[in-house]
Amino acid sequence: MEPTHVASGPGRVNLIGEHTDYNDGFVLPVALKRDIRFVFRPRTDRHVRLFSGDYNESLEFDLDAPAYIPERLWGNYIQGTAWSLEQTGLRLVGIDAVLGGNVPRGSGLSSSAAVEVGAAHAFLAASGLLDALPGPQIAKAAQRAENEFVGVNCGIMDQFISVLGKENHALLIDCRSLTYELVPMPEEAALVIGNTRASRSLASSAYNQRRAECERGVEILQATIPGIKALRDVSSAQLEAARAMMPDNIYRRCRHVVSENERVLHTVAAFSSGDLKTVGELMDASHESLRDDYEVSSPALDAMVAAMRSVPGVYGARLTGAGFGGCAVAMVAPGAEQTVADAIFDQYPKATSIWPEVYITRASDGAQVVRI
Ligand code: ADP
Ligand code: MG
Repeated sequence: MEPTHVASGPGRVNLIGEHTDYNDGFVLPVALKRDIRFVFRPRTDRHVRLFSGDYNESLEFDLDAPAYIPERLWGNYIQGTAWSLEQTGLRLVGIDAVLGGNVPRGSGLSSSAAVEVGAAHAFLAASGLLDALPGPQIAKAAQRAENEFVGVNCGIMDQFISVLGKENHALLIDCRSLTYELVPMPEEAALVIGNTRASRSLASSAYNQRRAECERGVEILQATIPGIKALRDVSSAQLEAARAMMPDNIYRRCRHVVSENERVLHTVAAFSSGDLKTVGELMDASHESLRDDYEVSSPALDAMVAAMRSVPGVYGARLTGAGFGGCAVAMVAPGAEQTVADAIFDQYPKATSIWPEVYITRASDGAQVVRI
């Protein structure tokens, strides 16, 4: 029997605003021109039949009895999404679906959110419920699938941008209020992403440690700045005034978060005046701050960023994601993309003995559903 619809959810890259989300701060991601697609047909019952082209595996489940299956990790993202959508009070119909995509897996470009958001749109469209949930609620349902069903403690950024992204726009998200604003990106802002393909094994322990260090910073600062709840509430001037009270490493962690929040807002202002040179300088400064103050870069990420910055036409480059591996992102003038890719393939393997991957992309639309 023939499929009737295609639903897609894109991956994402964060332009600036790293390690700010859990400090109630700001992030500025874009949706990629890379996505996970579900080619599907609605069913009249509550059965779901899935085939993953990328894993060459199938899975069936019943919407009345979703159950975590350790040997089908990919399927849990989809079962979890159906479960989570029904938690909001909706009643879904089953689907027959084939899925696949080109968001690199486990590389920090959020293939997991792309699967969840694509699945959510497939289930909602099949059930005639696409208008039943506003975008932010779809994103929250997808996040709940990952947090509570799959058991991965991710924030809301990835699902938010995968649902709400727009061609040639970045999305400013306030991680405290979850208010958001599309920020136009000029045509001249092309993106090159370099995947270090280096191990991220240090990332999770460092992540927990940094979160604790930020909490310690807030505790110390609360003594002199009454009413603050998170580093989001602290200005650079206030932090400097309190420096003597803080251990140096805690001070530097706080300095990264406080300055990074300021850089995100500064980036939005620079985009709105078309000042890509300033945006690039802010991206560069973000990398330096993550490397020196937050200490989450790595030799591989530094080598990737150095290769990106080595050729003309690059406005700026920085590590993106939690750090210690994964990807770096450069904003480049249109026409310079291939030169940047060539420089990465030339320089990065010499520095690291690792063969990288490079993705040339632009800010793209969020999730889509197309009738075949
Ligand atoms: P990422 O940084 O890419 O989000 P995660 O570890 O969070 O990395 O998510 C990767 C998981 O998402 C994979 O292990 C798989 O279960 C699922 N996934 C990603 N891409 C696909 C795909 N094309 N088809 C099926 N499942 C996928
Ligand atoms: Mg993920």
